Amino acid sequence: MPNKANDPSKKSWIPVSADSDFPIQNIPYGVFLTRDDVITIGTRIGDHAIDLGALHQLGYFKGIPLTDDIFLQDTLNDFISDGQKTWRLVRNRISEIFDITNPILKENLEHQKTVLFTMEEIEMQLPVQIGDYTDFYSSKEHATNIGTMFRDPENALLPNWLHMPIGYHGRSSTIIPSGTNIRRPKGQTMVAGEDTPGYGPSKMVDFELEMAFITTDANKLGESIPIEDAEKYIFGLVLFNDWSARDIQKWEYVPLGPFMAKNFASSISPWIVTLDALQPFRVPSPEQNPEPLPYLKQEGANSFDIHLEVSITPEGGVPTTVSNSNFKYMYWTMAQQLTHHTSNGCKVLSGDLMGSGTISGHTPDSYGSMLELAWQGTKPIELLDGATRTSIEDYDTVTLSGHCKNEKVRIGFGQVVTQLLPAK
Ligand code: MN
Repeated sequence: MPNKANDPSKKSWIPVSADSDFPIQNIPYGVFLTRDDVITIGTRIGDHAIDLGALHQLGYFKGIPLTDDIFLQDTLNDFISDGQKTWRLVRNRISEIFDITNPILKENLEHQKTVLFTMEEIEMQLPVQIGDYTDFYSSKEHATNIGTMFRDPENALLPNWLHMPIGYHGRSSTIIPSGTNIRRPKGQTMVAGEDTPGYGPSKMVDFELEMAFITTDANKLGESIPIEDAEKYIFGLVLFNDWSARDIQKWEYVPLGPFMAKNFASSISPWIVTLDALQPFRVPSPEQNPEPLPYLKQEGANSFDIHLEVSITPEGGVPTTVSNSNFKYMYWTMAQQLTHHTSNGCKVLSGDLMGSGTISGHTPDSYGSMLELAWQGTKPIELLDGATRTSIEDYDTVTLSGHCKNEKVRIGFGQVVTQLLPAK
């Protein structure tokens, strides 16, 4: 099943500006509330949202095996369960419908009225019901920085880190879409110099610059996915801000890892960009030394060149870019993460979400958290208005954005925007 939708020479009859994240080569999937208060599954070209439920009712997906109500749902889970072949058939068909050389919908203004929305007319929702959420820890630079700060610079990476993608099981109930504001969490912390812990609002709220991939039903209980098949089960990716409370984390994380420091909120971008759309941006991942065990060994280019950016905007102020990173810095690939996740027979389902872990590059301006950027509070970050930050303050808005670009096409994720409100 070829990805005809990726043809870089294609143009849409819907206007798309040169710096748009959503040309006709993207065709992401999302869920939105329409101006008539109906929830539907849709896609986006330029600044228009497209109602796939309406397109399907009007017969535009004729010949593709889809149930009648597949897009009239409030999550993408059932569509994702249909598998890679169906995702490609639908994406290719959308690409044909909106191709500038195709007059069928372009000249049918009646149909356009029910199918097309401006972005102002809709409200984006969480695109999937996330059953399980796992967060990895797969950036070598990030793991080294954290190990250096929290433990011992001489032995920053623990001995297991170079042999497998380390992860932990998170909590899906607090994964929220872009635009949902959060409250500063309260928790238990041990202040340096004290001998008993206290409880109150966290004083060190942080973002984590991550991406996350969403899976389809991958295996039966007790079965493992071979590394060469793993990518077939990855539907697509979103930007992922894994909010963290560093003071709570520091006190609680030994021996079982993050718990209350991480489960109060994680924000995702609302459009899922398919792994298919990202194919032109494949690049090799960092060299792995020592060589991974055979079940994790991969040949070829298995990462993706996705430029990532974080900005902080104080209340009523202007945004300051505080980090420029890239998904390609990840030491462990998504295929290795998914293969390792099922290597003991753990079952992975449609709508499961796997976070990459904080993505930090080599240079201090590419670190993916305030903990690293401000090096545990010792190097405050200066904002454009002259204020400084060592962590996120009340009413700050944190924005993650990401896109891929070559000479011919730009494919982006849009943004994930979250404002931090004071503790309740
Ligand atoms: Mn994380």
